[in-house]
Amino acid sequence: MQNKRDYYEILGVDRSASDPELKKAYRRLALKFHPDKNPGNQEAEDKFKEAAEAYEVLRDAKKRSIYDQYGHQGLEGAGFSGFGGFEDIFSSFGDIFEDFFGFGAGGRSGRSRAQRGSDLRYDLSIAFMDAAFGTETEIDVEKMESCPTCEGSGCEPGTYPETCSSCNGHGQVSRSQGFFTVRTTCPSCRGAGQTIVNPCKSCRSAGQVRTSKKVSVKIPGGVDTGSRLRLTGEGEAGPHGGPRGDLYIFIHVEQHEFFARNNSDIICEIPISFIQATLGDEISIPTLEGEKTLKIHKGTQPGETFRFRSEGIPSLRSGRRGDQIIQVAVKTPTHISKKQETLLREFAQLETDSLSSKIKNIFKGTVERAAR
Ligand SMILES: [Zn+2]
Ligand SMILES: [Zn+2]
Repeated sequence: MQNKRDYYEILGVDRSASDPELKKAYRRLALKFHPDKNPGNQEAEDKFKEAAEAYEVLRDAKKRSIYDQYGHQGLEGAGFSGFGGFEDIFSSFGDIFEDFFGFGAGGRSGRSRAQRGSDLRYDLSIAFMDAAFGTETEIDVEKMESCPTCEGSGCEPGTYPETCSSCNGHGQVSRSQGFFTVRTTCPSCRGAGQTIVNPCKSCRSAGQVRTSKKVSVKIPGGVDTGSRLRLTGEGEAGPHGGPRGDLYIFIHVEQHEFFARNNSDIICEIPISFIQATLGDEISIPTLEGEKTLKIHKGTQPGETFRFRSEGIPSLRSGRRGDQIIQVAVKTPTHISKKQETLLREFAQLETDSLSSKIKNIFKGTVERAAR
């Protein structure tokens, strides 16, 4: 079992703290570590969750008494396992968050308005070399952001939502039907418990506007087509104080004119003449970082491969570099001079002589064996 901190210590209150004291302490922490204020900050995220869990327990008299007597283990025995994620927190505390973020004293409806913002996808094409060694780039992302005019409240600056007069902020209205009293969602405020009297002109009271935002993306060396980067908190803003969604960058690596790629190995093809293949040679090969000399041995065959160790692409996981694999393509000359032709014919004659005597020997052997 992991070591959990004491709930009172997390909230920074006495063990005898009253409900309003707990709420005040939690409010302070929730505002400080709210994911909207700390996008991409894992520590803040953990603190935010920790505080939510502590408050969830201590505000409930029954859970608090179990915790006071038996500690964390007691709660586990009683089936309380904390929160799974932000969605859980915001759906449990939706009404409290509305209070915290200044959306009026209404919202006693129990209906949560705080929701997590949507995740976004962005497809990014990058050059082969940038994928190999990493790069930093800026992208324009279209997304819903908290309205800058009203800061998300949906009200004209300087004005506030008013408690709905039809339901007195309860979000529900009672209606008598014969002997029964029927409660229904308030039609004036649609259950929100408050109404916006002076709607913000920029967002027409939605609290959000579509904007294009520049996001800086750090691409690590070793990414490949199909790699996916997650930028926490760079998705859309959550309506009514909910946390932001995430931004997912889908990488597409452009082809290179010379190098192909196989995971962290790079592959290239080098044309050599049949003379070089026959006699051996030293040739200059482009690598990811400048040129390097490759020794080709005598009698190199078409399609034979050579390897430069650790001249490939760094692996995303280990950082270890792959190899550069060089495949030779033996080219047959199409235009030769008279003299070259004469020499080649002489060469061919010698080749035929030695070849035909070899075949003769093999054949002779076969005949001799057959005769025995
Ligand atoms: Zn607005
Ligand atoms: Zn109402």
